[in-house]
Amino acid sequence: AAKHLGRNNFQIYEVSPEYAREHGMALKTRLRHAEGNGELRVVYQPQVNTETEDIVGMEALVRWEHPELGMISPAVFIPLAEESGLIVSIGEWVMRTACRQAKEWEQRYGLRLRLGVNLSAVQLMEPRLMETVASVLRETGLDPTLLEMEITESVSIKAAPNLVDNLHALHRMGCHIAIDDFGTGAASLDYLRRLPADRIKIDQSFVRNIGVDPDDEAIVRATIEMAHRLKRAVVAEGVEIEQHLQFLRTYGCDELQGYLFCRPLQPISFDKLLAERQRLLEGRTTEP
Ligand code: C2E
Ligand code: MG
Ligand code: MG
Ligand code: MG
Repeated sequence: AAKHLGRNNFQIYEVSPEYAREHGMALKTRLRHAEGNGELRVVYQPQVNTETEDIVGMEALVRWEHPELGMISPAVFIPLAEESGLIVSIGEWVMRTACRQAKEWEQRYGLRLRLGVNLSAVQLMEPRLMETVASVLRETGLDPTLLEMEITESVSIKAAPNLVDNLHALHRMGCHIAIDDFGTGAASLDYLRRLPADRIKIDQSFVRNIGVDPDDEAIVRATIEMAHRLKRAVVAEGVEIEQHLQFLRTYGCDELQGYLFCRPLQPISFDKLLAERQRLLEGRTTEP
């Protein structure tokens, strides 16, 4: 039902990865002031149930809107933030902003949407992470079971034992854990075995090749089957066309995220989407 909404939320990034490589130092300096200057934004992308296509969750994605450089992609500035350690405070800001927003929507629409927040490995190795998450949950009043930490397989968990401990502690607090970009990292299966993961997010590079590459199709099917045998839920990322949806539905992928349904939305647009959904539902129940 949410399909094709948010089509005009196109994001134009003016800073290319080449520019970022050349001007990394200058960008890092500017990044240090981004949070304080109010240049960071959080956008939200819906996740839908594969069968009903109803919204069940959302992923919080950070944006950097620089007054002169324009919109800077997280793919460009997150690595800089990780190198400089700034990711710890930026990540905390994103989490607090998104949890506050999720609580607001819960109260306004009575909808308990799951909130996915991306956590960098740098944040996961911070001893203070537990305190941060606990205080964000306390301040915002969000139910911990609605908060899902998305972890990318960018680091070897063997090299970072306290990362695993932190994830178990988060899980004990009630938070959910999702393995992001599943299948692209060096240690996917090892992650699955050692981390308290509730959900697997199939990377968009596999989803993109549905209908194109039979090997990638086989990987998608096998991932869904494996996840279900391990009693984990599966979300597919980067669902862009009807053919992706049909394939993922046929093979029982639980949830979908991608441009076919909705692009990441500014809070005001996401709010409109929820209001529209509520209108439709109310219309349906009051009809004779
Ligand atoms: P991710 O966590 O895998 O997020 C999914 C990315 O796929 C997002 O890119 C989203 O806009 C994009 N996407 C969603 N649907 C489609 C689709 O149908 N087609 C295509 N081609 N792309 C789609 P985005 O927002 O540019 O973020 C890129 C990455 O930056 C994220 O990948 C995540 O790894 C990182 N990131 C974003 N926000 C944060 C954050 O707050 N903290 C941290 N540590 N990392 C973040
Ligand atoms: Mg993610
Ligand atoms: Mg991903
Ligand atoms: Mg990614």
